[in-house]
Amino acid sequence: MRRAAALCALLCLALTACSPAPAKQSSTIFAMDTVMELQLYGDGAVLAESTRLITELEKELSATDPEGGVYAFNHTGTELGKSAAELFLRAMDISRLTGGAMDITVYPVVLAWGFTTGQYRVPGDEEIAALLEKVGYTKASGFDLPQGAMIDLGAVAKGYTSDLIADLWRQRGISSGLMNLGGNVYALGKKPDGSPWLVGVRDPFSDTFLGTVEAEDVAVVTSGAYERYFERDGVIYHHIIDPKTGRPAKSGLASVTVIGPDGTLCDGLSTAFFVLGLDRAAEIWKSCEADGASPDFDVLFVTDGGEIYITEGLEGSFSPTNDYDTGDVRVIRRG
Ligand code: ADP
Ligand code: MG
Repeated sequence: MRRAAALCALLCLALTACSPAPAKQSSTIFAMDTVMELQLYGDGAVLAESTRLITELEKELSATDPEGGVYAFNHTGTELGKSAAELFLRAMDISRLTGGAMDITVYPVVLAWGFTTGQYRVPGDEEIAALLEKVGYTKASGFDLPQGAMIDLGAVAKGYTSDLIADLWRQRGISSGLMNLGGNVYALGKKPDGSPWLVGVRDPFSDTFLGTVEAEDVAVVTSGAYERYFERDGVIYHHIIDPKTGRPAKSGLASVTVIGPDGTLCDGLSTAFFVLGLDRAAEIWKSCEADGASPDFDVLFVTDGGEIYITEGLEGSFSPTNDYDTGDVRVIRRG
């Protein structure tokens, strides 16, 4: 009897010492033209709230949906919603940081190539030159754009959405979760077992991963030529446009992954760095001193030749898979 009581006391002690782990909740939805996977440890109602937030943002940020907020801004001059306006200003900052390699006013050119409709075509030189007259973030004055100019927040929308979802999760007391918004990953906290999340970085030359990065309270965002493209007369045309030429960027990179606490910035930079190429992107990374005041991010580049370059903050956190040798990975340093 006494033994039973002692056992019971021990059991009670054990139960109070380690409160039960929150249950895993997950969902997959299709939004913003991509598959989104959310998983969190905690209350399932937060997942439903996240889905509602994504649906709202999708509408507000859409340039293609005739009922979308950005569509209305482009076609009838309607004021942008609060989130779209905030993202517009963030995108302008990223344009300034990258010398316009990421530029939301490139939209008329994106439209001409048919990337939004899937009715792909190769515009002629004169057509591109005429469209480029309207392109340029420096031509905007506040939210006012020149006649005929249009914007597309697609290069930053998923990163921004991941930031807002992560904020929501934190406000609701969630301390562990992972989301993948079509290649825009955000890892909140650690895994429930206390180890960091491991996020796979896709190999741009195959359907597998080229490695993993450890992630805790950071976004991991990849832009690559393989994501959306078409082929005409044996030439591949992909969806990331160099705003200087009005044509798909050709910078010697197959993909760029940017890792950092600010998902909006990482999304914008992954697009910009893909346009700029390794050397110019590395210069920007170097110019952002890791002093806490400058933007905080690291980068993983894969060149067209299959070489992997990482900035020094990823040393120890990036592990290549078996197909790649650690010796193949070159480290870019500030010093
Ligand atoms: P994805 O949306 O495939 O993850 P990105 O974040 O790199 O890729 O954004 C690419 C999208 O942004 C394109 O589909 C196009 O709508 C738009 N875009 C293309 N080139 C640029 C650019 N240089 N600056 C801003 N937006 C761009
Ligand atoms: Mg992007």
